[in-house]
Amino acid sequence: MEREDADVIVVGAGLTGLTAAFQLTLRGLTVEVLESHLHAGGVIGTHRHAVEGGDALYEVGPNSGMDTTPLINSLLGDLGIRDQRIDAQAAAAKRYVLRGGQLRAVPSSLFGFIRTPLFSAGAKLRLLREPFIAARKYAGAPEESVGSFVRRRLGPEVLDYAVEPFVGGVYAGDADLLSLPAAFPRLAEWERDYGGLVRGAIFGARQRRREAALKGERAKTAAPSFNFKGGMQTLIDALARHLPRLVCSARVLSVQRDTGGGFAVEIERRGERLVRRARAVVLAVPAFEAAPLVAPLGQAGEYAARALEGIHYPPVATVSVLYHRKDVSHPLDGFGFLAPKVEDPPVLGTLFVSSMFAQRAPAGVVVLTSFVGGRRNAQAALAPDEHIAADVVRSNAHLLGTGAPMFSAVRRWPRAIPQYDLGHLQRLAAVVALETQAPGLTLCGNWRGGVSVADCIKAGHEQADLVMARLASAR
Ligand SMILES: Cc1cc2nc3c(=O)[nH]c(=O)nc-3n(C[C@H](O)[C@H](O)[C@H](O)COP(=O)(O)OP(=O)(O)OC[C@H]3O[C@@H](n4cnc5c(N)ncnc54)[C@H](O)[C@@H]3O)c2cc1C
Repeated sequence: MEREDADVIVVGAGLTGLTAAFQLTLRGLTVEVLESHLHAGGVIGTHRHAVEGGDALYEVGPNSGMDTTPLINSLLGDLGIRDQRIDAQAAAAKRYVLRGGQLRAVPSSLFGFIRTPLFSAGAKLRLLREPFIAARKYAGAPEESVGSFVRRRLGPEVLDYAVEPFVGGVYAGDADLLSLPAAFPRLAEWERDYGGLVRGAIFGARQRRREAALKGERAKTAAPSFNFKGGMQTLIDALARHLPRLVCSARVLSVQRDTGGGFAVEIERRGERLVRRARAVVLAVPAFEAAPLVAPLGQAGEYAARALEGIHYPPVATVSVLYHRKDVSHPLDGFGFLAPKVEDPPVLGTLFVSSMFAQRAPAGVVVLTSFVGGRRNAQAALAPDEHIAADVVRSNAHLLGTGAPMFSAVRRWPRAIPQYDLGHLQRLAAVVALETQAPGLTLCGNWRGGVSVADCIKAGHEQADLVMARLASAR
């Protein structure tokens, strides 16, 4: 081995792994990060396209994070990129949902709710009944899906035109397959502890405020969306710059217990097989990549591997299209729109990128990014690029009144976002059992603790604390 052994090896240089590695470095450990791709970042990546007057920026993965935790700003401060952060513009506050072939603004006030055509009068009355619907008995009851919960408490129309499109936007998922306690644990808690959602929102508010104040956290509804002047890539590049032992094009093939009590990690790099050693290993890779790495680690490893293989990742394609502003008739006065499954749309949703954040494109040019596929329409994300782009361009023309595009780019993620399906919590329990059996080995990533950018940053911090505690107890 050419290099000294590390204290910790982090496998996977996506946002979770990079954050964990950086936090461990800050705590004085020697950390080696092994990444199979040519570049760090995982699903995060900002691209540029030259147009008249400068570059247009578009993201192939996340377009923003939500500032729900103070860990985000503290991370940006430690990386020296706080001044690079930009928040969503006030003009982007409006959200649209597709209904009846038209974009309807999501109401933001009670008056707006009463008047909105997004929900029928029947659905609005059904919503008012929520506080009077008896709570489910949780003790011994089977796990419930998000779809079943929302249908039961809020009615089918709220599921179709509010929750299902939201679930499509966050998970590219299907509400009838997602586990309520795994994907939206707070909603289950409100019903269990307070008897319903309205009661939970009112009576649980004081306790939530107290808990949030303790951690300095903000509710998702109150948290600003952020990106960076140079796009989300800024965060990845800054993390990578601070990790002197980040090795790309290094695919980890196996992780084994070493004779000295640590771990031997076998990698393939440019056709060569090498072994790295460390006292602790953090697997920060997608669940389906972690499965073969843990399978050889005894019976607990086999169980965990089977559980990890069971986490489904549907495909998603992101399609960014540039237009001359004069060729778009919609005001683009918002964040974008979500498209409910019942409307049978070609996209999961579309972001008005150049309205969300400043400096995305020179004046006179707009950037729209659409998401195609997900669980509801997996085949669409696997079609040839030109078909995917053509569908999105047609959808934009129909819904936003766009003319001919200046440029379009498709990025396909064949296994995009982990689904917190029914049974997810049991799957995680198998992973916890493995971690208990193999002290020094920990697993993290967006399949655990939340899929959002903010969740991954939080998970990276928590992972670093966990590794420090494990190393201290092993002394
Ligand atoms: C299209 C899309 C849009 C999204 N939009 C948003 C958004 O707008 N807002 C938001 O908050 N979240 C969004 N998300 C979610 C969020 O971006 C991701 O959950 C997060 O970036 C995942 O980070 P990660 O580090 O957990 O995983 P990944 O990014 O998947 O990183 C894992 C890394 O491990 C590496 N790896 C795998 N196997 C090996 C191996 N054997 N050896 C070495 N390395 C390996 C991979 O190459 C990869 O770099 C989006 C996700 C996608 C896919």
